[in-house]
Amino acid sequence: MSDFHVLVVDDSPVQRKLFEQALSQEPCSVHLATNGQEALEIFQREQPSLVITDCLMPDVTGVELCRQIREAQSSYTYIIMVTSIAEKDNIVKGLAAGADDYITKPFHPEELLARVQVGRRLVELQRELQAKNRLLEELALTDALTGLPNRRAIESWAEREISAAARHGFSFWVVLIDLDNFKRVNDTYGHDAGDVVLKRFSQILKEHTRSSDISGRIGGEEFLHIVTYADPRGVPVVAERIRARFAAEHFSFGGSDVTLTASFGAVGFRGGRAPAFSDLVSRADRALYRAKNQGRNRIEIEPLRQP
Ligand code: GH3
Ligand code: MG
Ligand code: MG
Repeated sequence: MSDFHVLVVDDSPVQRKLFEQALSQEPCSVHLATNGQEALEIFQREQPSLVITDCLMPDVTGVELCRQIREAQSSYTYIIMVTSIAEKDNIVKGLAAGADDYITKPFHPEELLARVQVGRRLVELQRELQAKNRLLEELALTDALTGLPNRRAIESWAEREISAAARHGFSFWVVLIDLDNFKRVNDTYGHDAGDVVLKRFSQILKEHTRSSDISGRIGGEEFLHIVTYADPRGVPVVAERIRARFAAEHFSFGGSDVTLTASFGAVGFRGGRAPAFSDLVSRADRALYRAKNQGRNRIEIEPLRQP
């Protein structure tokens, strides 16, 4: 069984046999349908990469089938229409309805195989392109140093969740975190040491983030943690765990034992109208500023706003 699936649709048993014989020369799994209805069922089930369809069938025309396949496909399907020489009109209509190519009856097996191979190349290119696009999308939302979601990823997540939180009346907390005196690590032990610290903090943050929440790095040594569904007492507990865990971490740089701390500013809302995410971040920033002013290595919380 090859993972290149080909669906042949033809109401004539003789014609189906000819296709099956020709395709036996090609590494592919062949599925046969005798009418349009059956073709669509097989299409949904097998998700074939390539469809060869007769133009004239009792229940549905090849042109209509093309249209339906284009609507139902989740990834690109290459469609070859089969017509008799006399059906020029159908060729035009078929191509307009989304067919990629056509072949005329009676067909030459070598020609059919050559056209199937063209289709295979196109489908494979399309798959590679899709995979690369997915990777690019992922990279665009990931911070390269730490592997955490970046600012863009958090913003788009937050904008969706914030309105859901307002609508359903569950709480939504933004915790802004900034490492304390981080510049000193870079200045004393070098940039690589600073990077080690950022990665370690990210690891700790990730370990304390529930799958229904998100956390990420939004710049230099600043991180955001969004906590949903928590009661007001829960947020300080979560932040305190992260604070204590990081403060207890020992790094070894240039033979020195180094410890660091982080400051936290948190703000939340529950119910009422959804605030702008940027407003919540600025308010969390004000709380963070207080935490820095009051000696760092601490958590400052703005009161929960309720309607
Ligand atoms: P404070 O306690 O007030 O936050 O002091 P701080 O030293 O942490 O803050 P400041 O904003 O003065 O310094 C942040 C430093 O973070 C400066 C910059 O060199 C460093 N930095 C930013 N991005 C990176 C990075 O990707 N890697 C490393 N190693 N350092 C970074
Ligand atoms: Mg800092
Ligand atoms: Mg900073």
